[in-house]
Amino acid sequence: MSYDMNNVFAKILRKEIPCKSIYEDEYVLAFYDINPKAKVHALVVVKGAYTDFSDLISHATATEIQGFLRGILATVDALKLGQDGYRLVMNTGKNSGQEVPHLHAHILGGEPLGTAL
Ligand code: AMP
Repeated sequence: MSYDMNNVFAKILRKEIPCKSIYEDEYVLAFYDINPKAKVHALVVVKGAYTDFSDLISHATATEIQGFLRGILATVDALKLGQDGYRLVMNTGKNSGQEVPHLHAHILGGEPLGTAL
């Protein structure tokens, strides 16, 4: 899948669309999902132009990959979800139902989430 510069998360990264920010560093921007599926539902968006997890792992530098993963944990810490736990989801491609073609991790928590699968 080629990268679409006009996807909604690219616009949020360029500050063309607002978001409710939680955490930001050189590699990620994290903000609240506009349509939350749990009491706490955050999105961690990588700053590089990668469509999904496969694209990141195949083409990003080790530093970018590490930055993305550490950005997820920094967001978990900012939300104070570490103690009670949380769920990470990364939809990838058509069969997953991925809506926004820019790599992001969902962090869900703040309440018991039930069994995942
Ligand atoms: P996915 O299906 O993994 O691509 O998830 C995309 C997520 O982005 C959905 O949970 C949407 O609710 C969320 N979303 C779409 N537009 C926005 C926006 N402008 N601000 C925050 N979250 C958004």
